[in-house]
Amino acid sequence: AANRKFHPKNTVVHVGSLAIGDGHFQVIAGPCSVESEDQIQNIAQSVQASGATLLRGGAFKPRTSPYAFQGLKAEGLELLKKAKDTTGMPIVTEIMSPAHLELFSDVDIIQVGARNMQNFDLLKELGRQPKPILLKRGLANTLEELLTSAEYIMAGGNQNVILCERGIRTFETATRNTLDISAIPMLKKLSHLPVVVDPSHATGNAALVEPMSMAAVAAGADGLIIEVHNNPAAALCDGAQSLRPESFDVLMKKILGLRTYL
Ligand code: PEP
Ligand code: MN
Repeated sequence: AANRKFHPKNTVVHVGSLAIGDGHFQVIAGPCSVESEDQIQNIAQSVQASGATLLRGGAFKPRTSPYAFQGLKAEGLELLKKAKDTTGMPIVTEIMSPAHLELFSDVDIIQVGARNMQNFDLLKELGRQPKPILLKRGLANTLEELLTSAEYIMAGGNQNVILCERGIRTFETATRNTLDISAIPMLKKLSHLPVVVDPSHATGNAALVEPMSMAAVAAGADGLIIEVHNNPAAALCDGAQSLRPESFDVLMKKILGLRTYL
């Protein structure tokens, strides 16, 4: 169960040789979407050089408009796997349908996006397989609803669930979403699962990613998932919130410095 009551010790999720949770902190970085072999290889190598330990990249994209770029799909997964082979970084990517699960055999952490947080058939299917799940909070879901969605996965036998706060809809329009920093300590009070923060989708604004990352780390996050692109202006998805590799490098140095005070 996701509830702290039944599980007082913090859960540590293992991904290859990496651990996340209970003091183990990891940074997942990469583009919103895999766009080409050059793009994903280039970004993978630069984020790794800056200290990211896991690589993200969308292949199946949950776009608001059906006319927007939908991702490279199976080809995107192949290119992501090649970047994993080159760098040795475990890969994180979003699943949209239980029918795609067999394509995800080389994926290390399967992401459930905000829009699918309550896709209960998808959650049940992911509970019946062993790979760790990064479960994002829905756009307008409570923490209790996030935890009951985690429960859907865990009830099937898969205890490797990482929670992700990625901002929620509020009346504020200056940012894409509103990052709920209080979700971090509250989720840790209610649950034993690791909590990762996504400051990129939370703000929609590259200039806010560093300060919100610092806030998330100070509040006790077990990790960050950050969008980085080698050419944000030409990105096929979420360029406005994507950091350039140089800015990501600065952010990583600040995060490491901040963590020495915790
Ligand atoms: C993403 O991580 O690319 C994504 C679509 O995020 P979210 O589901 O949080 O909107
Ligand atoms: Mn994105």
